Amino acid sequence: MTKDLSKRTRAVHAGTRRSQYGEVSEAIFLTQGFVYDSAEAAEARFIEAGPDEFIYARYGNPTVAMFEERIASLEGAEDAFATASGMAAVSGALTSMLRAGDHVVSSRALFGSCLYVLEEVLTRYGVEVTFVDGTDLAQWEAAIRPGTKAVFFESLSNPTLQVIDIAAVSALAHKAGATVLVDNVFATPVWSDAIAQGADVVIYSATKHIDGQGRALGGVILGTREFIRKTVEPYLKHTGGSMSPFTAWVMLKGLETMDLRVRAQTANATAIAKALQDHPKLRRIIYPGHPDHAQHDLVKRQMREGGTVLSVDLHGGKEAAFRFLNAISVGVISNNLGDAKTIMTHPATTTHQRLPEDQKEALGITPGLVRISIGIEHEDDLIADILAALDQA
Ligand SMILES: *Cc1c(COP(=O)(O)O)cnc(C)c1O
Repeated sequence: MTKDLSKRTRAVHAGTRRSQYGEVSEAIFLTQGFVYDSAEAAEARFIEAGPDEFIYARYGNPTVAMFEERIASLEGAEDAFATASGMAAVSGALTSMLRAGDHVVSSRALFGSCLYVLEEVLTRYGVEVTFVDGTDLAQWEAAIRPGTKAVFFESLSNPTLQVIDIAAVSALAHKAGATVLVDNVFATPVWSDAIAQGADVVIYSATKHIDGQGRALGGVILGTREFIRKTVEPYLKHTGGSMSPFTAWVMLKGLETMDLRVRAQTANATAIAKALQDHPKLRRIIYPGHPDHAQHDLVKRQMREGGTVLSVDLHGGKEAAFRFLNAISVGVISNNLGDAKTIMTHPATTTHQRLPEDQKEALGITPGLVRISIGIEHEDDLIADILAALDQA
């Protein structure tokens, strides 16, 4: 019924399953197990469970199924598997499809835990990983070889907001027969059509824009029915990374308002980027939606809008960045993003603290860099707050 509807309408209605009570708001089926009418019915369900038949919450649950169907509908994916966190989704997607001897090519600009999985975990089990500068197509082309099993990247990198060309990298990967997995958190489900652009598997940390209100950890893997049910599900249901029904309910309610929130956050970010242009305290401002962004044409083509996060690099390094952060009053200092509240992070001393100095430098994580996840507060209040804090910096 929801096939021809817009994303925004699907985010409110797709996947809804009503119980015999006809509830308006989705029910939380906070149950571990399910009762069978007979021993024969239990046997039959273990042979093959129907679409409305469940066995155990680690395998599936009606509330979790609603969330999976809703996000799959939004993304134009055949199917989805919901996970306990974004990292359960990233590690589950990769580990379920890879084995010793496989080759993976990944962009180097990654969320710290993603880098850990690729650099430390997969290699421990005999997977070879080649890292490239994801914005340089020649490096992808040189690194991908016949038999490369998977290509992994964050479509919009953290915290320097570089954009990776999903269509171009996917074309190179598919020529070699590789599966393309995209961590799409920063692009958001609202501004991205990664599957239509060529990605085979899309991964979200639902902790970010999908919840959007700072409450629960969650994640989701989207792809073909074959990949989700034959590769991902057996691995995750037996290794324990499934989403809880309560979390699925939080995420379902989050999806209902995600489009409104992300549009408001994006409008705020656009206004703030404009207000900060040529500010004397800033070495640079990085916002993908700003015409000065080095990849602005690609942003327009791939995402339409610049998203909800911007980064500023202050003259005066760490001391200036800390003075700025400590003078902020509306925003909060924390390391999450995609929240209704404006959140500020100093990557060099927190999320990216463990990176060696040369790698920080190569990734553009300078001592003066502050990442700002823009919330839904009134833009005038945010601009006044940031300008006043810059005066203190
Ligand atoms: C937050 C994040 C993750 C991990 O998600 P969790 O829900 O915290 O496990 C993975 N990738 C990116 C790009 C993220 O921002």
